[in-house]
Amino acid sequence: MVLVGTRDSNIKNGIILNEKCPKCNEENTLHFSIYRRYTHLTLVPLFPVGKTVFINCNHCDENFDYEDLSESIQLKLRNKKLDATPWMFLGSIILAGFIIFSISNYFEEKDETGILIKNPIEGDVYNLKFSNGYYSNMRIDKVTRDSVYTTHNDFDAYMPYEVDDLDKSENFSNQKVHYSRKDLLKLYQEDEIIKISRK
Ligand SMILES: [Zn+2]
Repeated sequence: MVLVGTRDSNIKNGIILNEKCPKCNEENTLHFSIYRRYTHLTLVPLFPVGKTVFINCNHCDENFDYEDLSESIQLKLRNKKLDATPWMFLGSIILAGFIIFSISNYFEEKDETGILIKNPIEGDVYNLKFSNGYYSNMRIDKVTRDSVYTTHNDFDAYMPYEVDDLDKSENFSNQKVHYSRKDLLKLYQEDEIIKISRK
């Protein structure tokens, strides 16, 4: 299950020096806690989205909102040096890496398929995308000068990445289909042949 949400991480705590509590007027009693909020995907942080601050007087125990504090206290809070929290981008970095990997993988595969389609050989397995939205594959049994003889897989898959799992010899039984080389090329051009595996 993928969970998206936000969490707060406490990044700094301390006392606001040389300032008086707006309620009890004691000095050096205002305690602050700064939290950085970040979004996460199943608890893997994606990126920070903001900050919150809690202020509490440890003399009269009153809590204050940032907006209710004097200009000078607000300024002191804003000037607090906060440590960088690069780990809050961890998920984004992983996601970006994954996307780049998938894209380059996709183009490499496409490139290879474009080469293999021109020269089918016995044993090649072609992953297919049907017009009804299902995926399957077929195995090349025999190649002649202008024809390609294949056996289609007995099973279909819902997702393109499941097709490779269907590639088991017992799944290729009796659906014999033969194509002209030209038709095969046409299927590739129409994106119905999405991947070719050669052993
Ligand atoms: Zn106070």
